Amino acid sequence: MSHHWGYGPDNGPEHWFKDFPIANGKRQSPVEIDTKAVVPDPSLQPLVVSYEQATSRRIVNNGHAFNVEFDDSQDKAVLKGGPLAGTYRLSQFHFHWGSSDGQGSEHTVDKKKYSAELHLVHWNTKYGDFGKAVQQADGLAVLGVFLKIGDAKPGLQKVVSVLDSIKYKGQSASFTDFDPRRLLPESLDYWTYPGSLTTPPLLESVTWIVFREPISVSSEQLLAFRKLKFSAEGEPEEPMVDNWRPTQPLHGRQIKASFK
Ligand SMILES: [Zn+2]
Repeated sequence: MSHHWGYGPDNGPEHWFKDFPIANGKRQSPVEIDTKAVVPDPSLQPLVVSYEQATSRRIVNNGHAFNVEFDDSQDKAVLKGGPLAGTYRLSQFHFHWGSSDGQGSEHTVDKKKYSAELHLVHWNTKYGDFGKAVQQADGLAVLGVFLKIGDAKPGLQKVVSVLDSIKYKGQSASFTDFDPRRLLPESLDYWTYPGSLTTPPLLESVTWIVFREPISVSSEQLLAFRKLKFSAEGEPEEPMVDNWRPTQPLHGRQIKASFK
């Protein structure tokens, strides 16, 4: 995977199809969630989020976003239930955000763009490792959480405080004892549909589970995200903003709701 991709005008989402033809596939993400067209599914099970033993390790600026990585060598932080069959292990989380508060999320709800979107990425343990799972139609499960501007999210502050040390592409820092439960909304009501990674290689391996209830973060917390750089140290500085992909066609897919 030596392809150059990013979010700029010359290498952004409109160009990804050149190196990744699946960008034009039939189950791409993100999508617009039209709440009038969503189908409540009473057979959907409650989601079981078991993060008590989650073990964070490291935070890294990968030049596209920053990832908080978890120890996924055992069943420590797992996701089950909901639309999922089997057990999915938490591998990492990251965010997508805007250059201003009026944009930043990847999914939209009745055309509304939130200020940012959190993705908690899990892989299906029946495939043994992330690399195998990402090749499978039921290989990944991603929890999506919308961020809106309001009160600060205390659970996010530990992340915000470390960003100074990973300002540039390629930088990483130790990041232990972070409890990802602190980033979830109160209600676990969700929408779900089959989709893809929203960054290259855009593989169509994701069961999306997007929470209806957003979390609030302060404008100062989001400003700290915007101080990060896409660029490496010593390169011309490019602010890390607008690292979101626009919505993609549903191609007949149905979005189901866990609630009425
Ligand atoms: Zn993402």
